[in-house]
Amino acid sequence: MIVIGGGPSGATAASHLAGSGHSVLVLEKGPRGRSKPCAGGLTAQAVRELGFHLPSSVLGRPIYSLRLVCCGRTREVRRKEPFMWVTRRDLLDLYLLDNAARAGATVRNEEAAIDISRTNAQVTVTTRAGSYSGRLLILASGVRSGLVRKAGFSMTTPLGWCTVASIPTPHTDPGDTVLVEYDFGGKGYGWAFPGVGHMNIGYGCHPPFASQANNLFESFIQRHGLPKPQARAFWPVPLGGGRRFALTADSALVVGDAAGMVDPFTGEGLRYAFRSGRLAAEVAAAALSAYDYPPKSDLSYYDQACRVSIFRELEAARRVVCVASKFHRLFEELMLRPGMAESIQDLLSGQGGYGSLAIRGLLCMFSTGSGAVKRPKATTSEVSQGDGPL
Ligand SMILES: Cc1cc2nc3c(=O)[nH]c(=O)nc-3n(C[C@H](O)[C@H](O)[C@H](O)COP(=O)(O)OP(=O)(O)OC[C@H]3O[C@@H](n4cnc5c(N)ncnc54)[C@H](O)[C@@H]3O)c2cc1C
Repeated sequence: MIVIGGGPSGATAASHLAGSGHSVLVLEKGPRGRSKPCAGGLTAQAVRELGFHLPSSVLGRPIYSLRLVCCGRTREVRRKEPFMWVTRRDLLDLYLLDNAARAGATVRNEEAAIDISRTNAQVTVTTRAGSYSGRLLILASGVRSGLVRKAGFSMTTPLGWCTVASIPTPHTDPGDTVLVEYDFGGKGYGWAFPGVGHMNIGYGCHPPFASQANNLFESFIQRHGLPKPQARAFWPVPLGGGRRFALTADSALVVGDAAGMVDPFTGEGLRYAFRSGRLAAEVAAAALSAYDYPPKSDLSYYDQACRVSIFRELEAARRVVCVASKFHRLFEELMLRPGMAESIQDLLSGQGGYGSLAIRGLLCMFSTGSGAVKRPKATTSEVSQGDGPL
């Protein structure tokens, strides 16, 4: 069994497969401990998907409060339990890959897959160092991977674009509140996530506004009095939902970002990377145990499982984004009504889904008054860190 890509989806698939006794090779083009541009938001639901406890040094900072900003107005909600953590992707991804190696997978870092070919009973992956053959391939090579087409998939996923930066905060306590500012007019959203020793700040844009990502990022950090970063990355994110393509082709399965599995409303992809990695491993393990080859019929269970347990959620998220951008004034007003920020926390913690968010939104529409929406004392450009624990 060959897994291309040692990110969260590939590492999850590899540990499940190796743990069930299969021989697994992971090819990862990055060095050991490579990082990936990410906000590092690890939701309570994503942690549950993993199925095992992460050490607190890997989990990162527990987050109890969500500060939601729309049109310069703020609502902040706090929970007794953390609904997410802010992790560091280099630490998380390394832990997951080491976990796969502990389960018995062979991990080859700094070895990029260049080509994929098939004979009747084998998939062969070529790298600069040589070629490797296996019965099945799991493609976990992330967003915009050229290998997706080489492996026989025809998917295209719309891309959002993010400007993201990590700012060291070694001597300050950046608090336990995440700030999320939505611009439902269609441009995207900004975030400031406090980690351990760093603060992750970014702005994610919907496809038509990609060229504005840097400017939107600049004005976001100015508006909120956030520190100016030394360096930043500009990175695509596949927006899931919408038209979907087959996730299995001959003897290959595609998982995580390579399959376009990121929630377009929250930007969450780790939950689906873990879930798809596990589902792909389960279906592949069953196919490898069967003696028919090629195991096409067995692999199609993966497509069905993803449709039910991943793409329904992503499609609901896509609809929310569509409705929000069409009726953005109404939506911005709704988002600050009592209960809406709580519903988003439920969404992230896995205690609720888009169905309950929609029901809550409808109830808010028919209720009067905007509740305890906090209007900032200053204009939005004057809202600063002194405004709260961020
Ligand atoms: C700016 C930004 C912020 C985000 N914030 C969040 C967040 O807060 N929470 C959240 O849940 N999600 C977030 N996401 C999404 C999340 O990062 C992804 O969904 C997640 O990384 C997907 O994991 P993956 O394993 O599928 O892909 P990746 O993490 O991209 O891993 C793919 C791996 O494949 C390797 N690879 C690629 N090509 C080859 C090759 N030819 N041969 C060998 N190896 C190869 C790469 O080096 C990489 O290690 C964010 C994304 C972006 C861009």
